[in-house]
Amino acid sequence: MRIILLGTPGGGKGTQAKLICDHFNIPHISTGDIFRGKIKEGTAEGREISEYTGKGQLVPDRITISLVEERLKNDDCKKGFLLDGFPRDEKQAQALDLIMNKKNEEINYVFLIDVPKEIIVDRILGRRVCPKCGESYHIKYNPPKVPGKCDVCETALIHRADDQEEIILDRLAIYNQTTEPILKFYEKKGILHKIKGDGGIQDIFVQISEVLNKAQ
Ligand code: AMP
Repeated sequence: MRIILLGTPGGGKGTQAKLICDHFNIPHISTGDIFRGKIKEGTAEGREISEYTGKGQLVPDRITISLVEERLKNDDCKKGFLLDGFPRDEKQAQALDLIMNKKNEEINYVFLIDVPKEIIVDRILGRRVCPKCGESYHIKYNPPKVPGKCDVCETALIHRADDQEEIILDRLAIYNQTTEPILKFYEKKGILHKIKGDGGIQDIFVQISEVLNKAQ
């Protein structure tokens, strides 16, 4: 199954992506994670990427689309995949259609996790991530067992540089301008599923699994 997960930053996409990928055994392809990996490598490309991500701006398509196309060529994508953070706008959705056509494949499901704005700001401000293994926590809703430390590898958790209030509001504005049109794009194809995202982690996962289990 080839899945796209859409939703505002901080809307619980990353958490659901992990649950879906573990349950259905498909790779989780997150453009945000790909970019953070490149930045960590410290290459010229990584430095260019960090100029955009650090300000909450979108990374240019010439970089983003080619990194996604490369990633989708990996063997682990043969059994399907879940895209998280891509496509972000209609141009990227069209580019993804071209990539899929070349591979003679198509996207089967697009899920939108729909969350009210106030809840999103609260979720992002409380988000803490592990810089080593990528595990994500929330100080109120999903705290680590030991405050400030990753449950998996015990590394000190960080508050991501782009998870500050001003940058969150910028990211939400960019989201509204660019992502809304792609909902129409996938609605027309009849593969868009809207999921109510204001419930708990398990509630949301149950709604998504019901759709995916029906298809199996
Ligand atoms: P995320 O981890 O999805 O919140 O993404 C972190 C940052 O990576 C975003 O604020 C953007 O700067 C950049 N980014 C992620 N996905 C994309 C994309 N599809 N196109 C352009 N920039 C992206």
